[in-house]
Amino acid sequence: MVISSPPINNCTQPIHSSSSEDVHNLYIPNVCTNNSFLNNTQSSKAEVIDCANDMNNEVSKEKLINNQHLFTRRIFYSTINKDVEALINENSPFSVKLRETVEIIDEAYERYGIFGFSFNGGKDCTVLLHLLTAGLYRYAVKHPEIISPNEDLPKIPTVYIMNSFPFPEIDDYIKEANGLYDLDLVTIAEPMKEALKSFIDSKPHLKAISVGVRSTDPYSEHLKPFTHTDKGWPEFMRVLPILNWNYNDVWTFLLRLNVPYCCLYEQGYTSLGGTNNTIKNPALKIENDGDEEKYEPAYKLKDGSLERMGRIRKSASPSPLR
Ligand code: ATP
Repeated sequence: MVISSPPINNCTQPIHSSSSEDVHNLYIPNVCTNNSFLNNTQSSKAEVIDCANDMNNEVSKEKLINNQHLFTRRIFYSTINKDVEALINENSPFSVKLRETVEIIDEAYERYGIFGFSFNGGKDCTVLLHLLTAGLYRYAVKHPEIISPNEDLPKIPTVYIMNSFPFPEIDDYIKEANGLYDLDLVTIAEPMKEALKSFIDSKPHLKAISVGVRSTDPYSEHLKPFTHTDKGWPEFMRVLPILNWNYNDVWTFLLRLNVPYCCLYEQGYTSLGGTNNTIKNPALKIENDGDEEKYEPAYKLKDGSLERMGRIRKSASPSPLR
């Protein structure tokens, strides 16, 4: 499966790198066209056969090969899973971390079956989304008695709590990602607590929600991969598979697997809030470029501890999401 960067505005196009863990030189500039995001996702014959070969049942195999349009999520998520497995099998500190993350996701599927996902278009949940689709695929292959091989994979229940000062680029990216990954996306306006309650109430079977939080995020240093929500918040288990990832890990994953991400990261933003509290990261500013202010893309930030320099106000209080 070939995926391009998001089609919004002028983005750069990721290219594969076979081994390097240094993410700072992986990109070549390219202008995305408006349709490239979805048009480049046709599955190849080999990808369809690979997906079919993961099935034990000959009848299901044949059904999938002859009716690809009925199995678009299964085939797409299968290709993502192959990419993830290839990365895990590399012998590197990052592949060890990735394996631990995948194990947490597999455990979450075993514990809760289909669980929810909180998505705000940021880079961390973009990583998580890619990994959850691969996890759902593995879960379905392992449990044909739960997810029938004769049907497509279920959609991932996803909540986007819309910021009161949204960046149009984030909203566009979320729409594109929803189309690409074919999610069951619900968009609810802030405030956060009411929005989460409304999401949980609308999906009473959901016991857990996965969140792209990392230990270095505000109020997150003591969290564990499975952490119940705090008192006073809607009740659910938080599944936090990328707690131990650092800034560099996030960009290694996104760039190595050509994962489409919000184009604001191309423009010098390194962490995204609302338009009222987010600026381009001053650490990425290119000096001496005439009158126009220019910034390097987010993945060029070498010191991950400066990630939040573009957030001009901290979150007012802890929340189950960040
Ligand atoms: P970045 O730090 O670059 O903005 P991010 O948005 O993924 O990336 P955080 O802002 O630290 O990371 O948020 C942590 C996680 O909390 C997100 O990955 C997402 O899962 C969840 N989250 C935060 N805000 C929202 C929201 N408004 N709607 C849904 N999920 C959210």
